[in-house]
Amino acid sequence: MSKKLAGKRALVTGGSRGIGAAIAKRLAADGADVVITYAGNHDGAQASVAAIEAEGVRGKAIQADAADKAAVKRSVDEAAAILGGIDILVHNAGVATFAPVGPEALDLFDRIFSVNVEGVLAGTAAALPHLSDGSRVILVSSVSADTAGFAGNSVYAASKAAVSMFARTWAHDLGPRGILVNAIQPGPVDTDMNPADTEFAESVRNMVVLKRYGRPEEIAGVASFLASDDASYITGATIDVSGGAFV
Ligand code: NAP
Repeated sequence: MSKKLAGKRALVTGGSRGIGAAIAKRLAADGADVVITYAGNHDGAQASVAAIEAEGVRGKAIQADAADKAAVKRSVDEAAAILGGIDILVHNAGVATFAPVGPEALDLFDRIFSVNVEGVLAGTAAALPHLSDGSRVILVSSVSADTAGFAGNSVYAASKAAVSMFARTWAHDLGPRGILVNAIQPGPVDTDMNPADTEFAESVRNMVVLKRYGRPEEIAGVASFLASDDASYITGATIDVSGGAFV
């Protein structure tokens, strides 16, 4: 029996570790060729490529800072040339830094919005000529798009609210081409960005119905679903994958 994403061509941003690495590996396990991007973690990127290739599909890593619009366009064009087009575009690369409202939050704004928001817009704009009709765009947002959660979260949460709204609005823009656009809103997931073994994590765990952090693979399974034929009537959706965080 052929795998559910056999023959599909995927680009996953921020695929060198954490949630992006798990998504890349899962799409590969389901049969897709996968190109990843990364910021600077060459070893992590190569490990991801090895994990992709171990699934018997093609893998490649491209260094590209999501905050650099020219680099983003170059990486998307290069990925499309390697793959022969793009059927699955996963915007996962993101940064998170926290500060209460004030000068420090203002200082964070440009960096967080340039990676989390402008990078996603730049990547999608660059991908438009390469995306096959009927392809999937999957945005990794956050439950912070809909909930404040904790003090100091304003700039990150605002960036993810923008990402989730991209999914809703781009569904309208790209619907005529049959391109489905959805956002996954993870709750706390054990990665370098949000390790599960800190004091902060203990307080977060208490706000989660399931009283535990998620695993990157639990986000990857939903990304694979959204990329598959089973999700053919889902667009403009924001899907919480959070163990019931902050409900
Ligand atoms: P992570 O462990 O910090 O990994 C971040 C990934 O993004 C890495 O592959 C990193 O590349 C890449 N990246 C970071 N900045 C980049 C840039 N400027 N240009 C290109 N790539 C860049 O983070 P994660 O926890 O897996 O998070 C992945 C996504 O999920 C993010 O959008 C995050 O906001 C979202 N999210 C995470 C959680 C959570 O609890 N972990 C919850 C909700 C949403 P390098 O390895 O090269 O640095």
